[in-house]
Amino acid sequence: MYNCVGDIMENIKLDTSVQYIKGVGPKMYELLNKLGIYTVKDLIEYYPRVYEDRTKVTSIDEFVKDQNVLFFGTLVKPVSVVYAKRKKIISTVVTDESGSLAFLTWYNQVYIKDRLKEGETYLFYGKVGSVSGTRATLDSCSIYDVEQLDKIQGLYPIYSLTAGITQNYLFKIINEIMDKDILVREVFSEEFRRKYSLAEINYATRNVHFPKSFDMVNVARNRIIFEELFLFQLALMHMKDSNLVTNKTNVYKDMDCSEFLKIIPFELTNAQKKVVEQIKGDLSSNIVMNRLVQGDVGSGKTMVAAIAMYLAVKNGYQAALMAPTTILANQHYLELSGYFEKLNMNVEIITSSTTKKQKEKIIERLKNKEIDVLIGTHSIIEDNVEFNNLGLVVTDEQHRFGVKQRMKLSSKGNIVDTLVMTATPIPRSLAIILYGDLDLSIIDELPPGRKPVETCVVNDSYNQRVYNFLRKQITEGRQVYVVCPLVEENEELDLNSVEKLYEEYKQEFKDFNVEILHGKMKNKEKDAIMQNFKENKTNILISTTVIEVGISVPNATVMVIENADRFGLAALHQLRGRVGRGSAASYCVLKSNNKSPIARERLDIMRKSNDGFLIAKKDLELRGPGDFFGIRQSGMPEFKLANLLTDTRVLEQTQQAVKDIMAQDKHLEMEENRNIKEALFEKYGEQLRNIVS
Ligand code: ADP
Ligand code: MG
Repeated sequence: MYNCVGDIMENIKLDTSVQYIKGVGPKMYELLNKLGIYTVKDLIEYYPRVYEDRTKVTSIDEFVKDQNVLFFGTLVKPVSVVYAKRKKIISTVVTDESGSLAFLTWYNQVYIKDRLKEGETYLFYGKVGSVSGTRATLDSCSIYDVEQLDKIQGLYPIYSLTAGITQNYLFKIINEIMDKDILVREVFSEEFRRKYSLAEINYATRNVHFPKSFDMVNVARNRIIFEELFLFQLALMHMKDSNLVTNKTNVYKDMDCSEFLKIIPFELTNAQKKVVEQIKGDLSSNIVMNRLVQGDVGSGKTMVAAIAMYLAVKNGYQAALMAPTTILANQHYLELSGYFEKLNMNVEIITSSTTKKQKEKIIERLKNKEIDVLIGTHSIIEDNVEFNNLGLVVTDEQHRFGVKQRMKLSSKGNIVDTLVMTATPIPRSLAIILYGDLDLSIIDELPPGRKPVETCVVNDSYNQRVYNFLRKQITEGRQVYVVCPLVEENEELDLNSVEKLYEEYKQEFKDFNVEILHGKMKNKEKDAIMQNFKENKTNILISTTVIEVGISVPNATVMVIENADRFGLAALHQLRGRVGRGSAASYCVLKSNNKSPIARERLDIMRKSNDGFLIAKKDLELRGPGDFFGIRQSGMPEFKLANLLTDTRVLEQTQQAVKDIMAQDKHLEMEENRNIKEALFEKYGEQLRNIVS
């Protein structure tokens, strides 16, 4: 154990573990870890959520019911403790110059009896319970010594908590650290700060925790947000810059895809044609392609990717398509191999269910250029997969992959063109910022003849009616999906709920084929079940969200979503997009017993709209971008203070600042930019390694 805590406290640095801070024992250390706080730096960067206004000292005669007040009080009687049945009631009465009385009560905190002495004056903060004439009551006030006024007065920080940690505790330990004057590294030079009106970082951290006024909060927050967004955009610009390889060798000469267009059973939509032209422009230029294709569910992104792959092969290169799940990879394979084989292109697939032997053979043929197009899950980025001359990489549903994975696949070719497809519809302005390392194409049109999916929202009292409806659809030859949400990322629980549902449906639909699909199954099993469903051997498919992305079974016309309120709207839209793929009318039944206004409002948006962009916009407004992007999945950073939606003014500033610095000192070699470079690598090093040296 550390019996020389004093010494250690003197030596506290940014990377010191918080367990060496006074007041942090092993138990609190674990709780702090839960909040993501391990080091002193983490603690300093644990910024308050909001602030309580404690700027004014209120005299007792001015108290108003329900108001939070900071006030001086002199005890007019000793503290009394009453031992009631369940709890101990501690109380006293205080007064101030106004002569009014405040009756103060606490529960179970018996130590207060020794803390407060009759005739002495203290500083209190609490919420006024009741006021009647010259008497007021307050429960559970915080107690401070009069000398502490200077520290207490101001805006009191309110932090996000976890069970076992209180506001006062965080306040205390952060105060402890602030008293030590541990300096955070200043990233920006004085000149830079003057140019963009930024506060010095240590002034900002101090004032973000313990501000005296809301003006100070703004100055402090602005400084911190600026740094977060600046480093993020700088990282993106470096990625983009590294991708901007000019003089690439694989400039395509033959841009004629009429042969391919002849064999597909429909005409491209105008939106698809437009995007194909943009891709052709990239492929025939001497700049490496890095394009994001964004299109609503069902807009036909696969076909656009297929044309790009066709052109790659036609010009002598290999192409790869990476999908987020085995099921989806299989589906792409089935659809695309049909077209490609007619054009004498060799297509293969590698997934986690490919045997070692099969895989070895495929890799051998890949090296010998006997395979033109390789489709697969992330297993195609494994190190032992080597291409002969990979020219084009397509990733489907990019929001499922991190930036890193995308880069790893690209690194398998010499200079590789990249196409990324996503159905996550985000506002264009934001997309440009988020995917700043990519060019953006949007397919803003659905193939003709698509009917909107009719959507309704019901609670459990409609169960029988829903069953009757499903029965009718199945009797007409149609198929049904029933989806169960993920619960708290707890796989056991998920399995329970989906299996329970399966039993219920089997019971109800004894005369039909009901099957179950979930993430815990082996890939082979999953594939077999999906295949049965595709071949219409299964009437009802009960599943977890494994069917979320991309699956296409045109004969399925009904999507029932259980506990629909647990899903994000973007996810619901994706799920709903699994039906309405054929010519028959399609339906989506959103089940929810949640009565909260927000939940109702969100589901109502789904009922009213089939437009992914509109839904995404509303979802963003209701939930904020953190949730919306599924940030952890996408490899996007989580900001501590910045909000990509609301901090647009700072975003514009930082975008300009990044441009300026890139123009002047692209590789950040100047002395004045050294700290920026270090901070950039500390935060985004993993993504940037090998890029900026
Ligand atoms: P998503 O953009 O969601 O990935 P898909 O590429 O899976 O959409 O396309 C959805 C369905 O629409 C597929 O069955 C595909 O064959 C079909 N499709 C694609 N383009 C067209 C088109 N121009 N006209 C008619 N059907 C199309
Ligand atoms: Mg798709």
